[in-house]
Amino acid sequence: MFETRRSNHKEKVIITAALTGAVTTKNDNPALPTQPDEIVESAWKCYEAGAATVHIHVRNEDDTASMRFDRFEEIVTKLRDQKFPGIINLTSSGGQGFSWDERIKPFKELKPEMASFDAGTMNWLNTVVFMNEPGFLEKCGEVMQEVNVKPEIEVFDMGMLNTAKYYLKKGIIQGPAHFQLCLGAPGGMEATTENLVYLVNHLPEDCTWSTFGIGRGANEILLSGIAMGGNVRVGLEDNVYYNKGVLAESNEQFVARVVRLVKEMGKEPATPEEAREILGV
Ligand code: ZN
Repeated sequence: MFETRRSNHKEKVIITAALTGAVTTKNDNPALPTQPDEIVESAWKCYEAGAATVHIHVRNEDDTASMRFDRFEEIVTKLRDQKFPGIINLTSSGGQGFSWDERIKPFKELKPEMASFDAGTMNWLNTVVFMNEPGFLEKCGEVMQEVNVKPEIEVFDMGMLNTAKYYLKKGIIQGPAHFQLCLGAPGGMEATTENLVYLVNHLPEDCTWSTFGIGRGANEILLSGIAMGGNVRVGLEDNVYYNKGVLAESNEQFVARVVRLVKEMGKEPATPEEAREILGV
């Protein structure tokens, strides 16, 4: 039975827009923003549509996955110069083969309010190893505390949730924790309501959480997440299709749909200020 006591903000839903990611390309969906100006524009459109947080990856000029600091710096500086009101969340993964320093430097130097923290290693999409070894996670947690960046703890399965709880206990991650329950990535747990309920029931007492589904189960997770009192993430990083066989027109199209769903369910999308209060950033 799902326990709702962990949701202390049931009437507000923090919508995160995951704009770009590391995997999808303009071949998958031409609307994917990959260059700094496209990403900045997409962030604004998502904010205007109702997102409180934007989760940011960068790409090279040829759109390939990247953790280049100058690209992060360009985007974050533009958003700050333009007084972007939303919460900026930078990735700490961003693709394959990047060094610890390359993965840590963007959040260490640019000090966004949040950055992702992937709580374990997995066989990513049954093709490559998504490396998040213990030493890296310890370093990440340490630097995040040092520069006061809140980890968005991404878990793809129950093992990662247990790992995150271990790091919370050890003080490597400072609570109250914020979890992103990522379902439907091949190699992780399937995007089903059953799995979402299971993960939520094993979260620490004092935390906030958000969720999203990749692929087939995306809409199910979206609806279940809102119904269960969670926060949700949407965007072209996770899904290039809006519905089965229908390509999404833009990131903000996903955000606009969540806003409608949230309101229909008698809730409200959290403003960035409300999200900051809920997340403690
Ligand atoms: Zn990401």
